[in-house]
Amino acid sequence: MTKVDVAIVGAGPVGSTLAALLAKAGLSVCVFERDTDVYPLPRAAHLDAETLRTLRQIGAWSDEPDWSIVNEGMDFLTADKQLLIRMTATLDSDHTAPPSNLFHQPSLDRLLRARATTFGATLLVAHDVVAIDETDHGVLVTARNLAGESVSVEAAWVIGCCGARSFTRRFLGTGQVDLDFDEPWLVVDVLLNEPDPDTPRRTLQVCDPARPHTIVPMPGRRRRFEFMLLPGEDPESIDRPEVIAELMAPYLDADRATVERSAVYTFHGLIANDWRRGRVLLAGDSAHQMPPFLGQGMCSGIRDALNLSWKLAAVVKGAQESLLDTYQPERSPHVRAIVESAVGFGRVICTLDADEAAGRDAMMLAARANDPTDRGGAPMPRLAGSPLVTDEGGYVVSDGRVGAAIFDDVLDGRWCIVVASDSSLSTDHRMLVESLGGLVLVAEPGTVTARILDHTDSDVVVVRPDRIVMGHGAAALETLRDAVIRFGLA
Ligand SMILES: Cc1cc2nc3c(=O)[nH]c(=O)nc-3n(C[C@H](O)[C@H](O)[C@H](O)COP(=O)(O)OP(=O)(O)OC[C@H]3O[C@@H](n4cnc5c(N)ncnc54)[C@H](O)[C@@H]3O)c2cc1C
Repeated sequence: MTKVDVAIVGAGPVGSTLAALLAKAGLSVCVFERDTDVYPLPRAAHLDAETLRTLRQIGAWSDEPDWSIVNEGMDFLTADKQLLIRMTATLDSDHTAPPSNLFHQPSLDRLLRARATTFGATLLVAHDVVAIDETDHGVLVTARNLAGESVSVEAAWVIGCCGARSFTRRFLGTGQVDLDFDEPWLVVDVLLNEPDPDTPRRTLQVCDPARPHTIVPMPGRRRRFEFMLLPGEDPESIDRPEVIAELMAPYLDADRATVERSAVYTFHGLIANDWRRGRVLLAGDSAHQMPPFLGQGMCSGIRDALNLSWKLAAVVKGAQESLLDTYQPERSPHVRAIVESAVGFGRVICTLDADEAAGRDAMMLAARANDPTDRGGAPMPRLAGSPLVTDEGGYVVSDGRVGAAIFDDVLDGRWCIVVASDSSLSTDHRMLVESLGGLVLVAEPGTVTARILDHTDSDVVVVRPDRIVMGHGAAALETLRDAVIRFGLA
């Protein structure tokens, strides 16, 4: 019987990212994937800077990959294309990760699988997990392969990353909070027959009550169109070449492009009640689903993977299992706030009542006339409710360079304390972070380390392995000491 530290059910973007992070940390990992290849239909298109930084940590992001382009922002428009809201995401020269990117998901999914196996994870494709059984020693995961044979692996921990219809979630027997959003949309990726020299760089949300729709620039010759289904329309009647051509016609002649792939999805807002039972946990769409209007579903799943990875690695290496009890309390409220926000945007976009839409437009146009400044991206909540963050912490540490190096590459998944000067830290605290394999960085003027301190009124900032700021000053150092003792981190 093969034994591993962690078995992962599902090699979507979340399972593969988690596998790569864990294998990079030295754990033995086996990933079971039901299908033979990556998911073929159009899904995620947008990824944010936080996600990009995690991809970079596992070598799945290089400068300007040909499967991704920088997105300059998103415009919400009326049916006659007046600007309701403009969200702008610009990269200032102090940072290294563009805040908003539009990418081709199958290319990323394949790369993530390759990175996971390069770090040493075993990937079993065409292995459908059919049973999860808790034993005295761990968890037995059984899959059926294409030949109909059973393959079992004993794992100390099992993480269900098996998507919206999660087998693992059903095994846990947990219910889901339903935020009451169920809207069907047609999603279409087309390939332009000729390259477009003027590739648009903004996503458009056209809030047309006659048919809400979205237009997304994509890398290369690809473009994404999304159209809401109207009441009474069924997926089979709309997902047809002639209907797609008619829907796209105001933007693109059908003879200028070829439909590459299309699908109808019903968007939901759902969050699982329990993300852990014993040695089995959930991540990604298994734990939460949201409408794609903020492009945050996969990004949130990759946040789960990063949060879980350093905790699982610590537990496998001897830390207290109770460390894993901090996973859901940190991640669930965070993702819930994003799901609520995506549902809120969805309700604005999906308005079909013409009078209601006219009222909404009048209100938003007046607000923009009053204050025409662009908004940034959707604000990210802070992590809270855990002994691993103080009230001042819980946010993602700033991105940037230290000399020629990218700050994240210097951190490389380790604990870090940024200090104003050598004298800002006692020998005890220095030894504490060193006992965790972490590093102390003295802030260098003009670099990200100085910026990290500038955001605070302190000369000490403690950063966790997932780049979340634990807190500032003496309170953060005490929290770190408490966590080391309580969870046996050293
Ligand atoms: C139209 C649309 C647009 C979207 N746009 C965005 C966006 O712009 N940005 C964004 O961040 N997110 C977006 N999302 C959401 C994003 O696609 C998902 O959140 C993300 O793909 C979830 O990743 P995952 O790895 O959790 O699950 P999945 O990608 O669903 O992967 C699960 C994997 O598990 C495998 N599996 C399932 N059951 C088993 C089993 N029993 N045994 C073995 N393997 C199994 C499946 O084959 C699959 O490969 C969008 C979604 C849709 C539908």
